[in-house]
Amino acid sequence: MPETLRRIVLASRPAAEPQPDNFRLEESAVPQPGAGEILLRTLWLSLDPYMRGRMSDAPSYAPSVQIDQVMEGRAISEVVASNVDGYAKGDLVFGNTGWQTHAVSTGRGLRKLERTSGVELPAQLGVLGMPGMTAYSGLLEIGRPKAGETVVVAAASGAVGQVVGQIARIKGARAVGIAGGADKCRFVTEELGFDACLDHRAPDLAGRLKEACPQGVDVYYENVGGKVFEAVFPLFNNFARIPVCGLIAQYNATSAPADAMPVPTLMRQVLSKRLNFRGFIVSDFAALEPDFRRDMTEWVRDGKVKHREYIVEGLENAPRGLIGLLRGENFGKTVVRVAADA
Ligand code: NDP
Repeated sequence: MPETLRRIVLASRPAAEPQPDNFRLEESAVPQPGAGEILLRTLWLSLDPYMRGRMSDAPSYAPSVQIDQVMEGRAISEVVASNVDGYAKGDLVFGNTGWQTHAVSTGRGLRKLERTSGVELPAQLGVLGMPGMTAYSGLLEIGRPKAGETVVVAAASGAVGQVVGQIARIKGARAVGIAGGADKCRFVTEELGFDACLDHRAPDLAGRLKEACPQGVDVYYENVGGKVFEAVFPLFNNFARIPVCGLIAQYNATSAPADAMPVPTLMRQVLSKRLNFRGFIVSDFAALEPDFRRDMTEWVRDGKVKHREYIVEGLENAPRGLIGLLRGENFGKTVVRVAADA
């Protein structure tokens, strides 16, 4: 019996939080690769917060996924058959092949992965992939932490946050995480070695944060926005750096909260404390990729950077995985096991 290709397409655009019926599972026969083409079988699919933006048609830095189009996503795949020089059956590749069990590619945009790198494959989508690069480039290029300074990062047990705090520690800074729940905070301090971690769901985040940052905040790596930002804001030291990486608390929002901090309050402090906010997209720092690969490979190998993945089983559960990621149900870098690696 011919093998079946399964894919998840965008069925409709979410109004606020994505719902399962915004996605549709489709099936078709697995295509044969033509001349100059490779057939890939997806092993691991990365789920990332940016996918919420692609489901929307609001103007953004990247094009939206169109209705009935396969959901966009980066994945690790195995070559099933190849008509392209340089690719052979059994090779592992990384590419933007989407939420599907198989893909046909010309090879353009693919990167080969070593099977013998000693690092498990999901880590190639996390600490050694785009989220790791985001943490590395945003913290080192914009945050520029110095020894003895205090670095605060929210979503601290997640894909980007877990790496930010550990790099801050490598650079000699104090790392203070903010995460949702006692289990995540315990992991952040006990496993990852942050100096402190605060649960943003418990009362008085602002007061607890002040106690945890007695010297104020020199770098705030912004992943979240909203109430977490407002708790950090009064603690900024003069000349604090704020890499604005993500605002996940707002991605499902349909309007600004009525009690949000007024812009004049924010701007007054930006001026008087000479705060340096800079938004960035990881691709802005593509030139740093070789440095990132060298440093992060070494740090992971030497146990200086630890990592945790959160595995969703089966492509059919990818929509639930993304919905859960936006709610904080993930604990670590979210990856979908689409198929077993033979
Ligand atoms: P994570 O693995 O950290 O997962 C998202 C986490 O966000 C959740 O687990 C939850 O953690 C936290 N969260 C969700 N809603 C809220 C809320 N209302 N308040 C506080 N925390 C919340 O995701 P990533 O590490 O992949 O991404 C982190 C951020 O970085 C995102 O904003 C993302 O968009 C951004 N990003 C930006 C890139 C760029 O190029 N600029 C590239 C990659 C990521 P918890 O339970 O701890 O609250």
